[in-house]
Amino acid sequence: MLSGKTAIITGASRGIGEATAYKFAENHADIAIIYASNKEKAEDVCQSCIKNYGVKAMAYQCDVSDFKKVKEVIGKIKNDFSNIQILVNNAGVTKDNLLAFMSEDDFDSVISTNLKGAFNMIRHVSPIFMKNRSGSIINISSVVGVMGNAGQCNYSASKAGIIGLTKSIAKELAQRNIKCNAIAPGFIETDMTKSQLDNPFVKMIPLKEMGKPEYVAETALFLSLSQYITGEVIRVDGGLAM
Ligand code: NAP
Repeated sequence: MLSGKTAIITGASRGIGEATAYKFAENHADIAIIYASNKEKAEDVCQSCIKNYGVKAMAYQCDVSDFKKVKEVIGKIKNDFSNIQILVNNAGVTKDNLLAFMSEDDFDSVISTNLKGAFNMIRHVSPIFMKNRSGSIINISSVVGVMGNAGQCNYSASKAGIIGLTKSIAKELAQRNIKCNAIAPGFIETDMTKSQLDNPFVKMIPLKEMGKPEYVAETALFLSLSQYITGEVIRVDGGLAM
């Protein structure tokens, strides 16, 4: 389905990004993975894509919050791959605390990675899409960007920001046939949530179970194939934010 296309996926050494890399590779896309520090795991994900699905896959270390470094790495990916058509902005971190205890650094660093990181990626990948007059940007937000959550004002603000970013970019780039959508996952079983299994939100999920990374990955695949959806936010949350 995605033969001949390349997908760039940030934060694909683990969790939702890893599952998204496999889902896109299974559908014949070549894969460029960006990770922060987990080189071994990122290389393993690439090897699995190559061995199991016969696609090209390469990993690049890059802190997505670093504007210059993102520019440099996108240049490398452009040299290594052809026909870059999909960007999944998935890299994200949490540094949770109640407002009264939240440091300036913890606020800034979550906004830098989660929100500015997505901007940096879009800023440097969109010229390729504009030249091709085609492209699909998929930003990973969160239900807490829609609902808010006590103890996560930095993270919720970054994820609400992602929704504003998505809709503005969708409006701005639609004339070049570039789609930009967001996914708002609920509680998904990854490293990020393993300390939160007793979070009261989990008991409030109408479908009565935490989500699997694959559920988000298949929504990303759906959006990457869609011709006529842009500026949309799709919840993948078992009904949590209903
Ligand atoms: P995860 O398992 O903790 O993985 C995070 C990924 O992001 C890793 O690949 C990590 O690379 C990468 N990363 C972190 N900081 C980075 C940086 N500055 N530059 C580049 N890469 C960076 O997270 P996850 O649960 O899969 O979450 C993926 C996305 O979904 C995040 O945006 C998260 O906010 C969002 N989300 C998750 C849930 C959930 O329940 N899990 C719910 C809603 C939204 P290293 O391995 O190298 O550290």
